[in-house]
Amino acid sequence: MNSYEQESSVSDHSSNSDECIFVETSFPTNSADESSTELNHSSNESPSRLDRAESYHSPDTHTGEEPRRPLDSECCGSGCSPCVFDLYDRDLAAWRRRRLRQPELATTSASPLQPDRFTALTLTSITALSDSASLYRFALPAGTSLCLPPGGHLRLRGDDAGRSVTRAYTPVSPPDAQGYFEVYIRLYPSGAMSSCVRHWRVGQPALWSGPFGEYRPRSADRRLVLLAAGTGVAPFVNLVRAAVEDEDSETRLTLLLAVRRLQDVFPRDQLAQWASYWNFTYQLFVSGAGEGTDGAEPRYGEPVRWRRLQERDVREVALQSAAGSTRYLVCGTRSFEKDVLNYLQRAGVCDDDVFRF
Ligand SMILES: Cc1cc2nc3c(=O)[nH]c(=O)nc-3n(C[C@H](O)[C@H](O)[C@H](O)COP(=O)(O)OP(=O)(O)OC[C@H]3O[C@@H](n4cnc5c(N)ncnc54)[C@H](O)[C@@H]3O)c2cc1C
Repeated sequence: MNSYEQESSVSDHSSNSDECIFVETSFPTNSADESSTELNHSSNESPSRLDRAESYHSPDTHTGEEPRRPLDSECCGSGCSPCVFDLYDRDLAAWRRRRLRQPELATTSASPLQPDRFTALTLTSITALSDSASLYRFALPAGTSLCLPPGGHLRLRGDDAGRSVTRAYTPVSPPDAQGYFEVYIRLYPSGAMSSCVRHWRVGQPALWSGPFGEYRPRSADRRLVLLAAGTGVAPFVNLVRAAVEDEDSETRLTLLLAVRRLQDVFPRDQLAQWASYWNFTYQLFVSGAGEGTDGAEPRYGEPVRWRRLQERDVREVALQSAAGSTRYLVCGTRSFEKDVLNYLQRAGVCDDDVFRF
């Protein structure tokens, strides 16, 4: 288990300790999200009124086989119900849900990255989210996705004034997004990798390896309490996304996110949107500035508390949660994790119910 500041390495290029193989490959830029399931149901290719839905064969999604999108010519265009595309939509959604629930299916798919070597991937966009954090998008070879297991992360290798630096980052794009992935990175003034990333320009390659680590859900869990500080929210983004998008999910998620400034909240729009689902609630704790003083006003209904996350907040959540069926997932700086683990212990939460990223 790692805290955010622990898993890193710095070594001289001259050192033999780093045995990673480099694969210098550049892939064509592909900024389009090919994972979109938006379908064009109208077609002129087939004038037949034959309801071809009967001829659609559902793939066995239990084996991990991805459903094949029907050809436009397989739809008769006469408004059948269900249409072949309705069946395809249904199977694709089921396949995605299964893949998110079963990491072993995800990792058997063709991910272009490997844990034991670094692969050069092209940076295709940088979206500034605050004065110190941006979303960086990288191209993957066409038709491939990271297939990252829940809670998994990648390693980035950079060169800081002649020293090789390796740091962990957690992609926040959907794990099955095809042709790209995105990482949310905060830059620190004296950070070694931060100084590499600060000089990144669109079109240049960066070296990635992975996946590493994962969080394995327990079948008994009915509630997840996510305790994060700053960019420590990254591994939770896809857990929340999966839970709200899975209509079969019976798990409730509560996120307590501690940040210094309101502008450090990520992914701000999505959190607000996900909170409209029955199974997700969140609370923001902004410790570094009073309301309105950091240039970011809270939005309507945004659940902000202008103070540090305190023991009473953790205790309150713990009191509402049943032991054995609630898991507490913790991710942040070393000091944040230490405080939160103490709060949980004093609230009577047993170690088995706690998972540190
Ligand atoms: C599994 C895992 C996943 C991670 N995912 C992400 C991610 O998605 N996005 C992301 O931005 N980071 C993530 N991190 C943190 C990341 O790996 C680096 O530690 C971070 O980017 C700082 O690296 P650096 O080389 O710039 O700073 P370093 O040279 O390692 O540190 C320089 C100084 O920067 C400050 N600093 C470093 N890290 C932090 C921090 N987390 N909080 C506050 N101050 C800090 C400290 O003052 C430190 O002394 C993850 C870490 C782990 C272990």
